[in-house]
Amino acid sequence: MHELSIVSSIVDTVTESLAAYPGAKVKEVRLRVGALASVIEDSLQFCYGIATEDTPLAGSVLVVNILPVVMHCEPCGADVEIVSLQSFRCPKCGEPVLDMRQGRELEIESIEIDEVEEQV
Ligand SMILES: [Zn+2]
Repeated sequence: MHELSIVSSIVDTVTESLAAYPGAKVKEVRLRVGALASVIEDSLQFCYGIATEDTPLAGSVLVVNILPVVMHCEPCGADVEIVSLQSFRCPKCGEPVLDMRQGRELEIESIEIDEVEEQV
């Protein structure tokens, strides 16, 4: 499953960045995913539950932020948001647009952790 390998690499990245915070538990991981990144959020969530077992990420929440597709329209000289993924046309002038500025991202936006308080 494509999503499982994505989630595994997210878990690796987060685990590495936790090295500086011994004993910390992850509360939430936020992802930025472009609408054209060809991942299914339900699959991501499902795989996340499996891949985080027995890791510092166990029990944390995965938040998936879907980013709209943004193309640059030559005639308008502007970046426009593409609403329909069936036809890549500028919503303002109707011209076909090919110059993608956003839509295929797949990256970690933020990681929220709970630091374990030291008992005195
Ligand atoms: Zn246009």
